[in-house]
Amino acid sequence: MSDTAVYLPGGTVSHRLKWNHSPNGAGSEALCGRTAWPGYWYGTGSQDEEEKAASLPLCVACAAIIRHRAGGVP
Ligand SMILES: [Zn+2]
Repeated sequence: MSDTAVYLPGGTVSHRLKWNHSPNGAGSEALCGRTAWPGYWYGTGSQDEEEKAASLPLCVACAAIIRHRAGGVP
């Protein structure tokens, strides 16, 4: 299962949601621990949002976790 790319309104980076977190939950956490509280994540509601999420640079903290995970460390 691939990670969901999401961003906050006005955000300059995209994050990756934890695999079991829904973008529609205000308390949903990205890999780096950030939440959209009290709002909601953007990035999955429409084609435009998906394209914007894909075009934003990945959050540095999320990227570090993805690299760490790719290294096979549990
Ligand atoms: Zn992040």
